[in-house]
Amino acid sequence: MTLNELNKQICNCRKCRLWQDAKNAVPGEGPPNAKLILVGQNPGTEEDKTGKPFVGRAGKFLNKVLAQNGINREEVFVTNIVKHVTPQNRKPLLDEIEACAPYLTAQINLIKPRLVVLMGAIAWQTPRLEDLEYLEIYHPSAAMRFNKMRTKFREQIAAIPKRLNQKQP
Ligand code: URA
Repeated sequence: MTLNELNKQICNCRKCRLWQDAKNAVPGEGPPNAKLILVGQNPGTEEDKTGKPFVGRAGKFLNKVLAQNGINREEVFVTNIVKHVTPQNRKPLLDEIEACAPYLTAQINLIKPRLVVLMGAIAWQTPRLEDLEYLEIYHPSAAMRFNKMRTKFREQIAAIPKRLNQKQP
């Protein structure tokens, strides 16, 4: 299967309730051979409107911190553990996470990145694949809201280039 074929499956997914109130699924975007995958929680309103991940306020903040650390977002595959918006942007429920997480696993298997960065406690629930490096960091929305988390988030993003270079096969 290709990433495009997988995206189509995600766009037609009816495995949980979330598709019913969504305008668009948000499978993720980025190069099929990305070395880095960033995983968030679920698309918000802006992402639901556009079908693209992290295009709202949290996305703009994320892009800025990535750029400050020499990470070009265009070279990163950006996605979420849950691919549809949730009602009132509530946290996804366990059954929604369990229904959707296999898509993320399939994306990771196709892309075979060097590092998967899980942003926020919901993304930390991502099932781990063997022989792959994962890094748990704060979610950019939390980092925007709380000073201490923002400082830590900047440090966590700053550590990514080193991790990527260490892990060359
Ligand atoms: N927050 C997320 O977790 N994902 C998005 O795509 C946007 C905001």
